[in-house]
Amino acid sequence: MSSSLNIAVVGGGAAGFFAAISAKEHHPNAQVIIYEKSNKVLAKVKVSGGGRCNVTHACFDNKELSKFYPRGTNQLRKAFEQFNAQSTIDWFKKRGVTLETLPDNCIFPKSNSSQTIIDCFEFEAKRLGVRVQQQTPINDIHFENGRFVLKSLEQEIFADRVIYTTGGQPKVDSLRWAEKFGHTIVQPVPSLFTFNMPNEPIRSLMGIVVEPALVRVEKTKLEADGPLLVTHWGMSGPAILKLSAFGARILAENNYDFAVLVNWLHTKKEDVLRQDLDRVKETNADKKISNYNPFGLSSRLWEYLVEKSAISVDARWKEVTGKAFNKLVNTLLNDRYEVKGKTTFKEEFVTAGGISLDGVDFKTMESRHQPGLFFAGEVLDVDGVTGGFNFQAAWSTGWIAGKVPSRASGTVTSDE
Ligand SMILES: Cc1cc2nc3c(=O)[nH]c(=O)nc-3n(C[C@H](O)[C@H](O)[C@H](O)COP(=O)(O)OP(=O)(O)OC[C@H]3O[C@@H](n4cnc5c(N)ncnc54)[C@H](O)[C@@H]3O)c2cc1C
Repeated sequence: MSSSLNIAVVGGGAAGFFAAISAKEHHPNAQVIIYEKSNKVLAKVKVSGGGRCNVTHACFDNKELSKFYPRGTNQLRKAFEQFNAQSTIDWFKKRGVTLETLPDNCIFPKSNSSQTIIDCFEFEAKRLGVRVQQQTPINDIHFENGRFVLKSLEQEIFADRVIYTTGGQPKVDSLRWAEKFGHTIVQPVPSLFTFNMPNEPIRSLMGIVVEPALVRVEKTKLEADGPLLVTHWGMSGPAILKLSAFGARILAENNYDFAVLVNWLHTKKEDVLRQDLDRVKETNADKKISNYNPFGLSSRLWEYLVEKSAISVDARWKEVTGKAFNKLVNTLLNDRYEVKGKTTFKEEFVTAGGISLDGVDFKTMESRHQPGLFFAGEVLDVDGVTGGFNFQAAWSTGWIAGKVPSRASGTVTSDE
């Protein structure tokens, strides 16, 4: 047993605290110190989920859970074998935090306050003897004489193990040190955003929700379904956010200038719709098209789509023939909108990119290039859609990294 294992956790956010607590639990005699660059820890946890912190998602099948991550699907599936959504619920329950599942399967603390999660982490860290050193930005890391040397301002910090959890980085410069160890950095781009449509009149219908719709990005295979919300700047809602996450890289390459095709009737196919409309025409021939809206869309949206199909809302159903009929079918199933730019979703942004996953063993979260160096959280090229998935990735990878297996090389042996 050695009492001198020295574990440095870089970053005092969600993954950093989870990793530090896990490290101290797996290695009670180790010295675990969190180095945080700012004068505030857990800042994102505080503002998360609108101040309520959506801690995880009620999805208890690891394979299904991993599908909510546009980047990291296969790797996280491996990580979830060790720590998944149920583990999160159990972890908090064991520490006196009751969680509650909402109808959309998002899980929040019953207190409805992110402060509950922060209090829990700070209490646990203190109880276990994890030290937190704020205002200590770590700007460089290298390995020398069998130990890590962390550079912070004028200070040099020595450690046997490093768990690096600095979150999503908009710039790669802060990760240059990792390249020297052989890691590849995937260019960061934003994920989770809504679509700006400055030239589309549909914005006048702001507030309308269609549940569910299917949205595709023109000329790609990208598509997502779910509730779609029309906003005063364009489109938002789960379908759009999902599309922005799965398309984060392609949409960035297109400079956020692209077109989407909306199927307002979700997955309805053209032949079925044509039959539906023929039936509507037979049974409602003399009714005004504005008075008989057969698909349950809001009447404002229905009238908008009818007019977009160059049909008067005062026309009778029997008059919808030929070109007009075809146009209506096309508008309902393939309604095209030009997107020019993006808007952050409720300030909740996530970064796609970071430390490339091929350089990290997800069974241990250890670097494949440098034993003793571990990664967790959003600094990895891992990100999920909204719904508690990003924190789940932080908890899973943080917990595993904190196990700090004995394969890691260092000058002292682990106290396992
Ligand atoms: C407004 C908002 C709301 C969100 N809501 C949710 C939600 O409800 N549910 C969900 O699942 N996800 C949510 N997310 C995403 C989630 O917050 C992140 O995915 C998660 O915080 C990532 O954890 P992390 O520990 O990897 O990074 P962070 O939480 O960002 O922590 C990184 C820490 O490292 C510190 N740091 C950075 N560089 C250095 C350095 N060089 N040296 C020392 N310290 C450093 C930072 O100051 C920070 O404290 C939200 C994000 C935002 C922005």
